[in-house]
Amino acid sequence: METDVVIVGAGPTGLVLAVDLARRGVRALLVEKADRLFPGSRGKGIQPRSLEVLDDLGALPGILAAGSLYPRMRAWEGAERQGEWDMMARSEPTEQVPYANVLLIPQSRTQEVLHARLRELGGDVRFGAALTGFRQSAEAVEAELSTGETVRAAYLVAADGGRSTVRRALGIGMTGETVDPRPMLVADVRLAPSTVVDRGNWHVWPKAPGGAVALCPLPGGDHFQLIAAFDDEAAAVDTAPRAVRELLAARTPLADADVVEVLWASDFRARAAMADRFRDGRVFLAGDAAHVHSPAGGQGLNTSIQDAYNLGWKLGQVLRHGAPAALLDSYETERLPVAAEVLGISTRLHRASSEGANTQRGEEVQQLGLGYRDSPLAVETRTGAAPDALRAGDRAPDGPYGGGRLFDLFRGPHLTLLAVGVPLPALTGGTVRTARLAAYEPYGTGLFLIRPDGYVGWAGTSAEGLDDYLAVVGASCSAVAGPA
Ligand SMILES: Cc1cc2nc3c(=O)[nH]c(=O)nc-3n(C[C@H](O)[C@H](O)[C@H](O)COP(=O)(O)OP(=O)(O)OC[C@H]3O[C@@H](n4cnc5c(N)ncnc54)[C@H](O)[C@@H]3O)c2cc1C
Repeated sequence: METDVVIVGAGPTGLVLAVDLARRGVRALLVEKADRLFPGSRGKGIQPRSLEVLDDLGALPGILAAGSLYPRMRAWEGAERQGEWDMMARSEPTEQVPYANVLLIPQSRTQEVLHARLRELGGDVRFGAALTGFRQSAEAVEAELSTGETVRAAYLVAADGGRSTVRRALGIGMTGETVDPRPMLVADVRLAPSTVVDRGNWHVWPKAPGGAVALCPLPGGDHFQLIAAFDDEAAAVDTAPRAVRELLAARTPLADADVVEVLWASDFRARAAMADRFRDGRVFLAGDAAHVHSPAGGQGLNTSIQDAYNLGWKLGQVLRHGAPAALLDSYETERLPVAAEVLGISTRLHRASSEGANTQRGEEVQQLGLGYRDSPLAVETRTGAAPDALRAGDRAPDGPYGGGRLFDLFRGPHLTLLAVGVPLPALTGGTVRTARLAAYEPYGTGLFLIRPDGYVGWAGTSAEGLDDYLAVVGASCSAVAGPA
């Protein structure tokens, strides 16, 4: 069997990459060792930047329909209410930031929506097909599957989670630390209607005997996500439904019988670690295979989605538009520092919460400020732009455009050349979309080439130098100076 890209693992990372490649006309085989999608609520917070990514991928309507805003936190000591606060700072959307708040949605729903979008685009997941081995040469990768098949592809992407078999097979180390030595239980539970645990609040018992407990109501049903810490670092976490019921009865005012059903349960220890490299030849590591986080701050799934989004367009340009293969080098150059920064944030938030601080999550977790200014793919040719001006490497903000929005213009697999307050050069022979704005303050003035993943790749005051950049990203067109 032959394909362009083998994607290993149909978690959020693999699904996002498969959707992105499908809309670019890149053939991909997405293999998943399980016989269905992951059923739990685990990564339940979708940050504003990820909502923008999902908008571009055409998956946002399903995500918004299935999600909700986070409820307020309500702290308890036994059956005594102690206080309430908003863990997630609430903001109003602006012209530049259309999705201002983190969305609460169970990871299983996010994956279902992505899977549905993939099928809409003509792709699918090969369930019950585990990668069992692979070898690579200068020309190709050969992947062996548990089905007995061998698949030959140009590239292989390991989206196979924190215990990545691909990463281990490559001998790539994970450098990091245990953020919290205490074991944790995470479960989805259905509870009987209760006067204490209502569905309008995220309930926490920080001083519960044995360890803190949190119950977060999940949208789209009558489930809660339970997270319980074990103060005894040596505790063996029992994930059987009976043990989950007993834990809730022992640590909260709920009775055993209030736990109607335990839908899914798992245990984990919060770790922060990052792969030493995100690439080995024709094999890329993405998502949890490349970095694992504490759940605090809701960064893991979001960073994973954005790895896939960063890699997808580059694979598309190389495989479909003749971009030099060196474009793929920028995946690790760009994503490794982002992963390092985000790991620092989630570790700090985890430790602050463990020390009892009622930390509020604000801009730092929204991932809107992350960018690639130091990347070789960020080419800023203007001199004297103000330090706070929009520059090459920055996220390209939304704004009004014609009767719609800039994000409508950017949506899709293309690059966009935006002229703000300067003449728009003509582009010949290519597929870059062009547009002119008389003025828009968040952009200042200049020519901005927006990458398919929504970052400013190149910025200038005239088209000088643009051709070189277009060749690097395989945009297969050339700029002709002067107004179009
Ligand atoms: C308690 C908890 C709460 C969390 N909360 C948040 C949150 O609020 N926000 C957030 O952003 N993140 C959160 N996370 C993190 C989030 O769940 C992960 O970052 C996310 O699942 C990573 O996605 P992934 O696709 O890279 O890996 P995974 O979701 O682990 O998917 C990997 C897939 O690969 C498959 N696979 C593995 N090996 C093979 C093989 N050899 N062949 C084929 N398939 C294979 C697996 O079956 C799996 O389906 C949380 C995590 C936990 C544990």
